[in-house]
Amino acid sequence: MLLTNLILPGRGTQKIFDVDVSDSNSKIISIKPTTTQPQTPPSRVVPTLCHPHIHLDKPFLLTAHNEGEELPNYHDLAPEDGSFAEALAKTGAAKSRYTAADLLHRGSQLIAQSIQAGVTSMRAFVEVDRVAKFLCVEAGVELKRKFREQCYVQLCVFAQDPVIDDEKYGTENRKLVEEALRRFRDRIDVLGSTPYVEGDDEKQRRNIEWAVRLAMEHGLHLDFHLDYNLKPNTKPMIWHVVEVLKRSDWTRQAKGKTVVIGHCSRLSLFSTDEMEKLAKEIHDAQLPISFVGLPTSDLFMMGRPADGDWGGSRPRGTIQVLELIRRFKLSACIGINNVGNAFTPWGSLDPLRLASLGVGLYQAGTPQDAELLFECVSALAQDAIGLQDIVVRSLEEGATALFMVVTNEKTIRINGNDTGIAARKRLSVADMVWDPPELGQRRVIGKVKVGSQARE
Ligand SMILES: [Zn+2]
Repeated sequence: MLLTNLILPGRGTQKIFDVDVSDSNSKIISIKPTTTQPQTPPSRVVPTLCHPHIHLDKPFLLTAHNEGEELPNYHDLAPEDGSFAEALAKTGAAKSRYTAADLLHRGSQLIAQSIQAGVTSMRAFVEVDRVAKFLCVEAGVELKRKFREQCYVQLCVFAQDPVIDDEKYGTENRKLVEEALRRFRDRIDVLGSTPYVEGDDEKQRRNIEWAVRLAMEHGLHLDFHLDYNLKPNTKPMIWHVVEVLKRSDWTRQAKGKTVVIGHCSRLSLFSTDEMEKLAKEIHDAQLPISFVGLPTSDLFMMGRPADGDWGGSRPRGTIQVLELIRRFKLSACIGINNVGNAFTPWGSLDPLRLASLGVGLYQAGTPQDAELLFECVSALAQDAIGLQDIVVRSLEEGATALFMVVTNEKTIRINGNDTGIAARKRLSVADMVWDPPELGQRRVIGKVKVGSQARE
């Protein structure tokens, strides 16, 4: 397969290349400057994308139009007040309707549409608790196998429900999560937990301690949904996570395993001093902690007016990802989290649109900002979840290809008719982030070749 007329990363937007990729094994046979005069605008090659945090079992609940099919519907579970408590309750109720066929159906839609957008790796959360039991993990394992040449699905066994608080079936849930780690040990890579669903601070701390211990026992990466609030009077749990990781000697005892903190909107209330202290603690102990901003969910969930207020003033908070990276030298990226459910009814699966949202959200308007935002949904996302040596994305002669080509149209078409008006070209990474190309203009070349450490 000869791809012609390409702008390649790091080689300027003026030089055009041809890349020859083997049809049989996706190896890159050659990369050479284009010699013929192209008749069409050049295409731009960029790295493929990564979802560092996405829920595989609960997408599209609100938009699952399955009338007349042997699949469940969830229309009656649409949000009524849009609150966080309601989202937990309604999504919990949806869970009792899950079937294997339904999970495979919605999960396949999620992965396939992500691949269309250029995603070749993801951390996929699958819940285990007294209602779902192992149904979501089983579907995850099957989906991981089904898409393995196109997208590496790193599975995270996820405790969305309490595992400590016995007024909310904590012990029962905890035992099931522990059983899932044993039963699916060769298929999963991550343990995920949600301390804030526990009854009080003490139980949150025990949730964190349990998760750290369990992840170390099983040699897994760890992922917390943490400090998902904008309440200055609540005690941020991030300090306890840092303390427990240090006390457990995670850096040495769990070598190569990462710890990801999702949401953490409470950090947006930190003073500069507090942020410096947090960064220093993480750096001093060499803790492999990364922060994942989940802005589409945060915007929706955190933008609540005060009680009795008409709602004109809505403080919203999401971690300021670019400052974490640049100023505090922390590892950070951004993720989609949820689509089409009560936690996040809006948004798409496209990481480039998320990066684009970041331009406005983080007030990040320079081309360099756009390039960093692109990295937040590609290389930095992959690093955060420990996949840098697992999914190899390459554009070198002799290597297995894995990159995305974004094509440029010559003219604008309306209703299929050529207007003769020259189409705008996207040649730089900033062009992609400021106004992302349609999915139909994107194409992933090559296949996912996982490194030897990968659990397949
Ligand atoms: Zn999440």
